[in-house]
Amino acid sequence: MQEKAKGPVDEAKRYEPAEIEPRWQARWDADPSLYAAEGHDSAKKKFYCLEMLPYPSGKLHMGHVRNYSIGDALARFMWMRGHNVLHPMGWDAFGLPAENAALKNNTPPREWTLANIAAMREQMRRMGFSYDWATEVTTCLPEYYRWNQWFFLKMYERGLAFRKKSKVNWCPECQTVLANEQVIDGRCWRHEDTIVEQRDLTQWFFRITQYADELLNGLDTMDGWPEKVRTMQRNWIGRSEGTLVDFAVSPDKSDAAAMKITVFTTRVDTIFGATSVQLAPEHAVARALAACDEKLAGEMEKMIAQQKAAREAGDLGAIEKHGVDTGRFAVNPYNGEQVPIWIANYILADYGTGAIMSVPAHDERDFEFAQKYGIAVKRAIVPAAGGEVPELPYTAEDESVLTDSGQWTGRSCADAQREMAAFAKANGFGSATVTYRLKDWGVSRQRYWGTPIPMVYCERGHAATVSTDAVEAGGVVALPDSALPVVLPEQIEITQQGGSPLGRVVEFVNTLCPVCGGPARRETDTMDTFVDSSWYFYRYIDAEDTGVPFASEKAKYWFPIDQYIGGVEHAILHLIYSRFWTKVMRDLGMIANDEPAARLFTQGMVIKDGAKMSKSKGNVISPDDMIARYGADATRMYALFAAPPDRDLDWQEDGVAGVSRFLARVWRLVTKYSERAKIEKSEAKRSGSEGKLLRVLHQTIAKVTEDFSGRWHFNTSIAAVMILVNEIAAAEAAMDAGEVSSATIAEVFRGLTLLLAPFAPFLAQELWAELGGEGAVFRAAWPLADADLARESEIEIPVQVNGKLVVVITVPAGSDEAVVKAAALADAKVQARVEGKTMTKVIVVPGKLVNLVVK
Ligand SMILES: [Zn+2]
Ligand SMILES: [Zn+2]
Repeated sequence: MQEKAKGPVDEAKRYEPAEIEPRWQARWDADPSLYAAEGHDSAKKKFYCLEMLPYPSGKLHMGHVRNYSIGDALARFMWMRGHNVLHPMGWDAFGLPAENAALKNNTPPREWTLANIAAMREQMRRMGFSYDWATEVTTCLPEYYRWNQWFFLKMYERGLAFRKKSKVNWCPECQTVLANEQVIDGRCWRHEDTIVEQRDLTQWFFRITQYADELLNGLDTMDGWPEKVRTMQRNWIGRSEGTLVDFAVSPDKSDAAAMKITVFTTRVDTIFGATSVQLAPEHAVARALAACDEKLAGEMEKMIAQQKAAREAGDLGAIEKHGVDTGRFAVNPYNGEQVPIWIANYILADYGTGAIMSVPAHDERDFEFAQKYGIAVKRAIVPAAGGEVPELPYTAEDESVLTDSGQWTGRSCADAQREMAAFAKANGFGSATVTYRLKDWGVSRQRYWGTPIPMVYCERGHAATVSTDAVEAGGVVALPDSALPVVLPEQIEITQQGGSPLGRVVEFVNTLCPVCGGPARRETDTMDTFVDSSWYFYRYIDAEDTGVPFASEKAKYWFPIDQYIGGVEHAILHLIYSRFWTKVMRDLGMIANDEPAARLFTQGMVIKDGAKMSKSKGNVISPDDMIARYGADATRMYALFAAPPDRDLDWQEDGVAGVSRFLARVWRLVTKYSERAKIEKSEAKRSGSEGKLLRVLHQTIAKVTEDFSGRWHFNTSIAAVMILVNEIAAAEAAMDAGEVSSATIAEVFRGLTLLLAPFAPFLAQELWAELGGEGAVFRAAWPLADADLARESEIEIPVQVNGKLVVVITVPAGSDEAVVKAAALADAKVQARVEGKTMTKVIVVPGKLVNLVVK
């Protein structure tokens, strides 16, 4: 990217982004219609381009800059391609940091949040991102969160929001409950060093499991989403098909009542090989057996403590497997055999039924356990092909048949699974079933800075419609729509006393029951902030509406989102919740789409010297510093140029400086020839260098256009534009000598400027005006590649003699074998090599190579 100095003027100094960029930003700001989408009655094809909305921490970081530079390039490209583009931005503005800041600085969370939003909006404007600020959404304002409350009530009416007591994740640092999705390896998603505890609490849940199958099956058709995200969601939903089988506990005179153990198995076909039944230490039958067995009770308590510790350490899978024989037996209903009942520390009460059948011959884990405790091993499956009996454990399912399995002996595993499940059902001791790893979404948070849950508890015990899972009797009353929004009180003292801060605001808590008018208490928990981000992108299309969350006819036009762009860290959290929310809204009749986004792109991280940027490492690169030194164009163009967008990008300041020099060079060339480039037509004859200039221009247009519609390798798109600029610089002498027509100069410089517009919008706009272009450059038509001009007129072909390269010849593109051969033989160097020798073979690979074999 270096070039020879031409004269005394330092070019880098003459390209002044600090002057160009604010000047254009001021003009763009003055015209809010510039980035506004047309209405849903537009005749143009719509394109909804969305980047994930940020949490307003107060400062943009480089990860944001990269994310938004990708989306912004795409939005501008789609405008230039004639689409009706919606490109909005908003703020995921509820959450704990505002409360922490309030504690630290004594600033009310609302004030702190709104100041941060103002600062970040200003940074985004300085970067030149093309957002339609008229559609801005701020989730902490009642104009937005009242609709969270409205959706909550709609879900409550349909039994999709419900209250139950259960074991929940508790972060002692956040002082609140967390959803399963917010616990990563046993730790809090916000506090990587904080171990999440288990507590029994009554909480509000959303019944996401009702959509488990649909959420799973939809993934198969979502080919616009990265496979890694779909795989993560499949694993998280964790569907497994199997059979429930009841084992009756062999009675003992000390039993209070008859007992049975229901096991869940995915391999009922191996049940004739079951040699024990194993229970979680918290299983009801285990507790009953321990009631009159002190030693057993003691062992169980130890196991419960081990599980708690392992769960909190996040490595349940690594638990040292340990069990105890209860001395009691259960009956296998398929063959009447009695098998011992064990209690084991690796069986979890809240996974499946909390009980398994152990088949050591055909399961790795069961085999290991049986070896440790000397439990019998009994084969029930053999290879269908017969032959040598395989070593145990033998877990193959395909190509296997049952053995020693009563009436099913000889059946294939798949057939046996189906038939044996039907047999269980017919005989009343079981059935086929499906289980999921996905659990209902716990949405209660014991925090202040979130959406108030629109429910009250009538002190007269007045019960409205209580949803099916409500464990507590009566008292739960849903507020009517007319009572919305339930506004967060603003004057509040944030403390870390534990419990919901709203619970200490008497004016908030004390209210009246909307049904009987008697005294009532408001719910003091707030909603998980992931509720806010589950549907915010629907609000953008109708952000001012005060009557509905959004108008359905607008949603029918704009949805699904054409391109969603954000970090892969949201694969399980936000991206599963927003799919769920979309399905709920569809079932409420509000939208027609099944999925929120047709295409998803997850960009890589921005790192520094191979490590994640962090304050503690002192390796944070600030976007403001980069803008001050190199300008917004160079900063965002570097973010696209330095790596393919799906890979991690290691930020190198030298690289930004290089991009800045490249832009300075573009600026110099365009401004130098702009007068001649304004002339649209000229009769001047095209010279040799002219043909090459046009060829490279049209090849570049073709490449950049293709990259936008395909793999998004903007790094190679920008490299292609750099090659074009090299060609232009190489033609400078010819241009100065008047050997290049003004028509060509105009076409090349206009093309270059348009190609730059998605990546360096300020400079492109400056040069567009310089070239006499009207209005905004990103509303000008994207250039079309002319295939004839782009075609190489000549190609180079290496000529070898006996496999050694002798010369590279130039022939017209598309020459046939005879022409290429004749050209090779006519070359003087080739003639010198073959003179006086016998040519035994001529190999011509058209377009590639000529090899002459001589003796
Ligand atoms: Zn936490
Ligand atoms: Zn009441």
